[in-house]
Amino acid sequence: APTDAHPPAPPTASGELFARAHAVTPGGVNSPVRAFNAVGGTPRFIRSASGARLTDVDGNDYVDLICSWGPMLLGHAHPEVMAQVQAAVARGTSYGTPTEPEVLLAEEIVARTPVDKVRFVSSGTEATMSAIRLARGFTGRDVVVKFAGCYHGHVDALLASAGSGLATFAVPGTPGVPASSTELTLVLPYNDRAAVEKVFAEHGDRIACLVTEASPGNMGVVPPEPGFNRFLAETCTRHGALFVSDEVMTGFRVTREGQWGLDGKAEGWRPDLITYGKVMGGGFPAAAFGGRADVMSQLSPEGPVYQAGTLSGNPVATTAGLATLRLATDEVYAHIGAAAETIKVAAAEALTTVGLPHVVQATGTMFSVFLTEGPVRDFEDASRTDAPAYAAFFHAMLERGVYLPPSAYEAWFLSAAHDDRAVQTVLDALPHAARAAAA
Ligand code: PLP
Repeated sequence: APTDAHPPAPPTASGELFARAHAVTPGGVNSPVRAFNAVGGTPRFIRSASGARLTDVDGNDYVDLICSWGPMLLGHAHPEVMAQVQAAVARGTSYGTPTEPEVLLAEEIVARTPVDKVRFVSSGTEATMSAIRLARGFTGRDVVVKFAGCYHGHVDALLASAGSGLATFAVPGTPGVPASSTELTLVLPYNDRAAVEKVFAEHGDRIACLVTEASPGNMGVVPPEPGFNRFLAETCTRHGALFVSDEVMTGFRVTREGQWGLDGKAEGWRPDLITYGKVMGGGFPAAAFGGRADVMSQLSPEGPVYQAGTLSGNPVATTAGLATLRLATDEVYAHIGAAAETIKVAAAEALTTVGLPHVVQATGTMFSVFLTEGPVRDFEDASRTDAPAYAAFFHAMLERGVYLPPSAYEAWFLSAAHDDRAVQTVLDALPHAARAAAA
């Protein structure tokens, strides 16, 4: 009998590819969550995508609620984005020189957000890694504060877990990260003002920056309590530390101005540095960090803090990002918000009907469903979600043609292409999934 956590792969093209992938790639995937380890079974290998739909190598269609983990705000293969990308590709794919699309995309981002200047990189990981280096270089301090459950990419210093007992500084969150990389990191519970005040009181003059997801989406959606981001920004300022808001997931997704459009703009404050990724790359590897002009001017070649990248500001990626942002009008956000509302209400109804404890949480157009009593304020609360029940829920949705994130701790993403038909497919599947989860 097979002892592997995975059942034998079914005789499908996805199953066959997964088996071949296992032979040449660790776990058969190039990013762990894709492997279905949290839900079991065989990931569907996708051959093509259009609008709100994915088509797998066996010819099955799915309504896509992953949207590439956030980037595909307009849906897949948007005709206008594709036309501009194809024209860009025809002009050559990378020159290693400055280009016009970089300037245009930077201008678009500066116009939409509170950042004065941006620097492009190729992934969200690079953006947060570079922002932290810049914060350390600017302040001349070393300590970084982060929150448990916030993911900022696989940056050594941020793959850190809170030390147990009396250990104030963090411990490595994975083998391969040396203790020396996390001994300057402090990990706090999210939404906990007292914990923030305490570490700043004790270590304030050593703290280079506090980095937080602008509204966490990587432990499921756990919005900041009202005024929390402002409190963080003010606390940092009071102690001469920088406030780094990670908008890799929320930027240009939860509103056209990201999470800052929901709190900072209304309340009249701004982060010192912000990181972006996902939507701003239009489905290509592009990300950015930006912020206050005096901080950004410390960056090489203007200033002494080194940072660089062969493919940074790549002309195809920046063309795709620019096309996406230009097409991301208020109507797009209104449409996604309305579709999200319909699905949130239906999911809650379906789970209520079967008597399963749940809470649906959202920030802007981004939401997730926790199978636990709410509210979910931090990582400890999120960890109480019923992961086995979610696995059953997930597979019941998949069988009915809806590709949810294969993990209970992720946001569900929609796009401008999720029309009534796509939403109806989700609504039709939800009661079955709720029954499967409750069984
Ligand atoms: N920051 C946040 C908030 C993210 O959600 C992610 C990725 O999911 C990252 C950083 C890392 O981005 P990337 O996967 O492009 O390295």
